[in-house]
Formats: sequence, C-alpha cells, structure tokens
Amino acid sequence: MIKKHLTAKYLIDESVFLMKQAGIEKPRLNAELIMAHCMNKDRTYLYSNYNKVLTRIEANYFKSLVRRRLKREPVQYIVGESEFMSLPFKINRNVLIPRPETETLVEYALNFCLENRKKSFRVLDIGCGSGNIIISIAKYAPKMTYVATDISKGALRVTRENRVLNRIKDSIHLIQSDGFSALKKKRIFDAVLSNPPYIPKKEIKNLQPEVSEFEPESALCGGEDGLDHVRNIIDSASSYMKKGGLLAVEIGFNQHKEVIKHIRQDNKYRDAKMIKDLSGIERVLTAVRA
Ligand code: GLN
Repeated sequence: MIKKHLTAKYLIDESVFLMKQAGIEKPRLNAELIMAHCMNKDRTYLYSNYNKVLTRIEANYFKSLVRRRLKREPVQYIVGESEFMSLPFKINRNVLIPRPETETLVEYALNFCLENRKKSFRVLDIGCGSGNIIISIAKYAPKMTYVATDISKGALRVTRENRVLNRIKDSIHLIQSDGFSALKKKRIFDAVLSNPPYIPKKEIKNLQPEVSEFEPESALCGGEDGLDHVRNIIDSASSYMKKGGLLAVEIGFNQHKEVIKHIRQDNKYRDAKMIKDLSGIERVLTAVRA
C-alpha cells in the first residue's frame, strides 16, 4: 500500500496550504527548502523525488519545522543556512540573515580590491555577523589580508564556521570588538567595509515578525535615528585607513542625505557618494580616504 500522506508531494502541498492561510509569502519555496533540509539534499534532488515516501519520523520532523515557520521563524534559521554572493552560509539566531542588497556593497568593494590589489592589501569588516561580507571578499579576491570584528562571540563563531564551509585558504583574523575599539594598529587598511545595524529603534516593532521577533536586535538597531553606528564608523574609520583607501558602509532607506551631509563635513574623506541597490534605493555610502 502506498502511504500517500507520507510522500514529499503530499506533505509539501499540505504545508503550502497552511502557510498560505497564515499569510506567509512564497509558501511553496518555503516548503521545498524545509523538505530538502529534512531529506538532507538540495532542491534539485527534491524535484526528481517528489513522490518519495518519507518515514513517519521524517514526516513528523518536516511538520515540526513547518510549525516553526507558521510561527514566523525565518526559513533560514529553521534550515540553518542561507545564500549570499552564490556562496553558502551557515546561519543561526546570533546573526542577521544576509540580505541581497548587501551584495551591492560587496560587488563594489570587490571591484575596488581587484583593481587596486597590491602586496599586503588589507581589508577590514566591522560587525561581520555571519561573515558574509569578509568571506565573499576573501573568496572572490584571494591573497589579501582580511580582518573582521564583531561585538558578539556567537557571531564570530558563525563567521569561523563559514570560513571553513567556504574553504577560505587565506586567514581571516577575527577580533571581538565593539566597532573599532579593540583595533590597535592605525592607518593600515586599504578598505573598510561594514553593514552596521541601522534601523531606528522605534521602527523595529513595525517590521515583519520574521525580523522583529527573530533576528538579533543588536544587529538591527542603530539607536534613535538609526545612524549611531554609521556615524561612529565614519568618524573612526579614517584613522585606520591608508590614503586612497575605500570606505563602504551600507545604510537604510532614506538615510542617505543625512549620511552624505555627515561625511562631507569630514575633510579626511573625498569623493563621498551613494550607490543604489537593485531596487533603486540609495544603499551604500562610499568614500575615499583623502
Ligand atoms: N555582515 C553582516 C550582514 O551583512 C552584518 C550585519 C549586521 O550584523 N548588522 O549581514
């Protein structure tokens, strides 16, 4: 007898129905990611094994993960991974889920590194979270020196795991630090990159529950107007950068005017400008150390 209710297809369809009812976006994609995770395979495998019959234990595991999704936990935390710059990243609740708009920063920084790379080129990532920025740079622009900081030990642990997962051969120095505070050597970096927390405190509760209830507040919140960390990075970074070095910082929706005004008052930088992300939002502040 075929146990129809235990096929991947049946379980997926059933969970799509439940997720749709709960108003969860892209329910089929969510269901497939969770099912592939339960089977310990990727989605391509799933497509040719839709009628595979699961054991009761596997089916119950799938259902328990779907229940977590129904409570709005992001699918990336449930399956423990995410993709960024076409690379795999392990993710847990110590770190923010990498966002596609951050690829705008990484692509710009990569171009800068590849064009200007010379002996002992040093890149710094402030607040590395999962390590998505520094690891993508190390992967696509190897043979440089990489340093990344985060205030959270849990986040540094995730970065370390992702370094191994992505088989980065060059070393990435990880330093537990609140911003620049634990960095001693001055004027040595050719590029300083950061995607700091930049959401205004009051706005966090209005974000979708996936974000406000599950992502670490310390990785989201940038104080009253959201710009505490951004301003701190602009003010501090110049002491750590070589002349001609790049500063690239991700910011939030509609923060660009304030941020450009702030950096233009600082004569240690030149050529400050904004780069738009793929949705046309002014997303990345870049400037050169004068
Ligand atoms: N590099 C991480 C990211 O872009 C850091 C984000 C954060 O913790 N604010 O996702």
